[in-house]
Amino acid sequence: MNDQQIRQLLQNEIKDLIIPASQVAHVQLNHSLEHALLVLIKSGYSAIPVLDSEYKICGQISLTLILESILGIERIEYENLHEHQVAEVMNSKIPRMKESETFLRALELSINHPFVCMEDDAGRFVGILTRKSILALVYRYFRNKKTT
Ligand code: AMP
Repeated sequence: MNDQQIRQLLQNEIKDLIIPASQVAHVQLNHSLEHALLVLIKSGYSAIPVLDSEYKICGQISLTLILESILGIERIEYENLHEHQVAEVMNSKIPRMKESETFLRALELSINHPFVCMEDDAGRFVGILTRKSILALVYRYFRNKKTT
């Protein structure tokens, strides 16, 4: 791969790598922690996006955040799960990107985040971009380079 091909890869749009919203497990701000825990366990993911009623991205909720929030002095207080909402516990400082942004930006964000939420110009959730899909693309480029 020459310099120009590398530059092209880094400037490529990331549309094709996005897992569409319809296939992404998520919860809403006003859902109970009990519901969020069920969605997390059933989906098999340790963290998922949080959306509002207009489908805008508000944050992420994780198993760790939920368990921390019901951690008592001597035990985990599961009975408190239904009393709290996702909005109270979620992490709202999350990375987000638009489809028109470059692969280089996605690569940069994926250093510290297993997935990045994608939004349209109105801020509505369109899907996620995972570190796995970014690494797979990088791998394919370097594998092809090796054989050419
Ligand atoms: P992966 O790279 O496929 O292991 O995904 C990284 C992270 O992205 C997972 O741990 C989840 O937090 C999130 N994720 C991936 N796919 C989905 C999905 N379909 N629905 C919700 N979250 C997902």
